Amino acid sequence: MGVVVVALGGNALERAGGSGTWAETVRQMRLTAGVLAQIVAEGHSLVVTHGNGPQVGVLLREGELAERELPRRPLDVLGAETQGQIGYLVQQELTAALARRKVPRTVLAVVSRTVVSRRDRAFREPTKPVGRYYTDAESRLLRKREGWQMVYDRPRGGWRRVVPSPAPLRWVEGAALQQLLREDWGRRIVPVVTGGGGVPVLERTRGTFEGVEAVIDKDRTAALVATSLRADTLVILTDVRGAAIGFGKPWEQWLGEVTPHELEAYLRRGEFGTGSMEPKVEAVLAFLRAGGSRAVITDAPSLPRALRDETGTRVRAA
Ligand code: ADP
Ligand code: MG
Repeated sequence: MGVVVVALGGNALERAGGSGTWAETVRQMRLTAGVLAQIVAEGHSLVVTHGNGPQVGVLLREGELAERELPRRPLDVLGAETQGQIGYLVQQELTAALARRKVPRTVLAVVSRTVVSRRDRAFREPTKPVGRYYTDAESRLLRKREGWQMVYDRPRGGWRRVVPSPAPLRWVEGAALQQLLREDWGRRIVPVVTGGGGVPVLERTRGTFEGVEAVIDKDRTAALVATSLRADTLVILTDVRGAAIGFGKPWEQWLGEVTPHELEAYLRRGEFGTGSMEPKVEAVLAFLRAGGSRAVITDAPSLPRALRDETGTRVRAA
């Protein structure tokens, strides 16, 4: 049993090709919450973290549409907003699902900050596209007026803003949460933490932080959270039942139980999609390297069985 950190991917909140209405988001989260409540009922102490890519995209677009009337807010602030929005959603649905299972908990969403380094090379070479596509003329204007860095996406024939995606170094609220769980609050609360990878901040003098316009990969932060909380298991929940080799090829093979060594070799061979499965595999390996004992990559319906070692991609420390 013990502490299980579950990182929710985009699919936990939004169905691909869906309408994007709030009602639909609620329905999707309800399905995920049912599964999370089941593993709590089975005795695990649950900690939830989640992505925010689509939600930040919406806020950026809203800011753009409203800019004649309202000043824009920086990216770190939008990140914090999505933590509130998604945190509330998880609270609502998970509280209900836990009550139905007769394992009442307080679902506690914590606005979380993640320390990054100004010296991270991501600040010299921003690579993470955010927001919509722009024309040549728009991109010239935005680079000048907003100081944005932009890249041309040839296949889509448009420009996109790129921002740094630095490595998460420290979760500011982590020590307090670890204390809380150690005092067995895991029996009473389910924390929802570091949404969207946490709000990226630079540490000034110790104890003083400044938000930065960047994004953090939520899977990388999930590994940091699991390590900080000394979790027993890190679960990366996504929209496929695990990691595969030969993904999408006729010889595709889904990985079940796999050693860190084997997984590392597949990673080096380029088996995992850049920006999709690759960061998940890297997160799993980072957690195990930092002393974690078990990690799982799977989808929501498979989660309870994956925790019983029956399905999903499972990796144990060597
Ligand atoms: P999330 O939004 O849930 O965090 P992503 O959409 O970024 O996750 O990544 C999951 C996707 O990764 C899958 O839907 C699949 O299309 C893709 N993928 C790329 N390579 C692989 C692989 N080797 N095995 C499994 N899935 C892969
Ligand atoms: Mg996705």
